[in-house]
Amino acid sequence: MSIIKGRQLIAEGKTKRVYLHDDPDKVILYFKNDITALDGLKHDVITGKGYINAYITKYLFEKLEKAGIPTQLVEYVFPNIIIAKKIQMLPLEVVCRNIAAGHLVKRLPFFKTGQQLNPPVVEFFYKSDELHDPMVNEYHIQALRVASEREISQMKDYTLKANLVLKDFFAKRGLIFVDFKIEFGRLTADNVIIGDELNGDSMRLWATLDGRRAFDKDGYRSGDALERVRETYIEAFKVITGEEPLKEGLES
Ligand code: 5GP
Repeated sequence: MSIIKGRQLIAEGKTKRVYLHDDPDKVILYFKNDITALDGLKHDVITGKGYINAYITKYLFEKLEKAGIPTQLVEYVFPNIIIAKKIQMLPLEVVCRNIAAGHLVKRLPFFKTGQQLNPPVVEFFYKSDELHDPMVNEYHIQALRVASEREISQMKDYTLKANLVLKDFFAKRGLIFVDFKIEFGRLTADNVIIGDELNGDSMRLWATLDGRRAFDKDGYRSGDALERVRETYIEAFKVITGEEPLKEGLES
């Protein structure tokens, strides 16, 4: 808690707060215990969730960094803080899908849930709760001056590389990496890196191909009891990191 005391809040989203850091090239990301779905219409608080999601983000961002994929991560601070490079976040969500699920199947019902997608499908969405994050393509993104052609190409390249690294990592743990969402920010002109977060809120991770046992937020989206949702987050921590979560973190 102390690290954010007296710091200036510069942005607040549904699950995170961003504070100024003494170093102008850095920011402090504070992961809240809030959980939301349906563009924020459904909202609850789960003790320890901020810890779980900050730690999983740190863990997975380190994997990406080791594979040469740049992220915003500078340092993790127990229980729920990440010191990050200051970047200008782009108002986009980049989704990558290995297996058909969720909105893909709703939008395009000729895809069936559980169907393999080869090559993986990359999609861009413009971030807007009022408009329910509409899908946009590379031409829209350039016409809107949201990102340049080079930045779009970097986003696709890093997304597909991250997908390979994570798919392989999860396969070794016996898990199916169904899909994920990442966001990018501009570090310097024409140069984007992965920002924000990467954890059970932003991916589908299945134990079996029917999706019945999953370590992600879908249980919350489909109405599981909050205690069950909390257990799923704790299980996600264990299966993803291979570590036991700390009691103090889970109580934070
Ligand atoms: P879908 O488009 O099927 O709803 O989601 C595809 C993937 O992107 C899922 O892993 C889902 O968790 C993630 N995703 C899509 N939209 C959002 C969002 O607004 N916030 C977060 N955290 N993840 C999202």
